[in-house]
Amino acid sequence: FLTLGIESSCDDTALAVLEGGHGLLAEVISSQIDSHSVYGGVVPELASRMHQEAILPLLESVLAKAGIGEPAKELSLIAVTSGPGLMGSLLVGVMTAKALSQGWGVPLIGVNHLEGHIFANAAVSEELKPPFISLIVSGGHTEVVLVRAFGDYELLGSTRDDAAGEAYDKVSKVLGLGYPGGPIIDRLAADGDPNAFQLPLPLASTKEIEFSFSGLKTAAMTLIGKETALGEEFPLADLCASFQKAVVDSLMGKIKLAVKRTGVKRLTVSGGVAANSGLRAALAEYSRDRGVELFLPPRGMCTDNAVMIAAAGYSSYMRGNRSDLHLSPNPSWSIW
Ligand code: ATP
Ligand code: FE
Repeated sequence: FLTLGIESSCDDTALAVLEGGHGLLAEVISSQIDSHSVYGGVVPELASRMHQEAILPLLESVLAKAGIGEPAKELSLIAVTSGPGLMGSLLVGVMTAKALSQGWGVPLIGVNHLEGHIFANAAVSEELKPPFISLIVSGGHTEVVLVRAFGDYELLGSTRDDAAGEAYDKVSKVLGLGYPGGPIIDRLAADGDPNAFQLPLPLASTKEIEFSFSGLKTAAMTLIGKETALGEEFPLADLCASFQKAVVDSLMGKIKLAVKRTGVKRLTVSGGVAANSGLRAALAEYSRDRGVELFLPPRGMCTDNAVMIAAAGYSSYMRGNRSDLHLSPNPSWSIW
């Protein structure tokens, strides 16, 4: 059973061919980061146009890599991200998938991008079975989800304002470090003292599973302003390390709360911020100390990719879900 996965919800055009729910045959990805970074963030109109240019050459390349000569005969399913995301970006993937489905006579399934992120772990770890707690931390989302079964999700909590990745990106912009900020700050933080500056941990003391990164971002920016005004050598690494510690502590506090509250001792983390070394280290330590089974995707599977979309689409199809040519993008599609 071969599934072609297509992802184009934001600024990555990605395609993959998956055999069953786990066997990766081929993967291609074209990142637009260099084109958007000059603007300090993703420009929707530009993203849409770049997806259009990239998607057909990538399709040819992924089929060739997977050794598929006759897609109409060899493919069993086309899975495409149909929301949430940027309208113009989603449209390119969905329209392409519909045309291919029609032309090849291959069934079509629309996939929720966040369900896709949840499947980043399932796609590489066959032994991952629900129930588990899934933390999705990316550029647009910070959500803690209880996965009772695949397809049965309960949102335990989310952010009140900015996403964790967004906070990284904004602080990076103020520091003049570039976009996306997460990997850059992560790298710089390695050489800094995480206790050099005390940044506030918003909502740390509440008993709710909820995050707030807007206040932390503002506190970091104020601190950056103060340090700049001092005119002495700018403590860049210390600032990055202290900011990173605050983000990680905030995420870890609520993860622990979710595990305690549900009694579910199996945990997955996905989304771009799941690549963060501070977070990965804190999770590993917690998992060891508390006997919580931890699943982390390889770093390349944390950010947007089509492997997770193919895996989520395959699972959804096997649960009986189907899409047809009425499938249209839903930029604000929520599955919880
Ligand atoms: P969403 O899935 O919510 O629509 P997205 O797809 O744009 O958003 P991802 O591609 O999953 O998000 O992740 C990108 C985000 O992850 C960016 O905000 C980036 O700064 C952040 N990120 C990537 N690597 C790291 C890292 N090592 N540390 C911290 N943040 C990181
Ligand atoms: Fe994403």
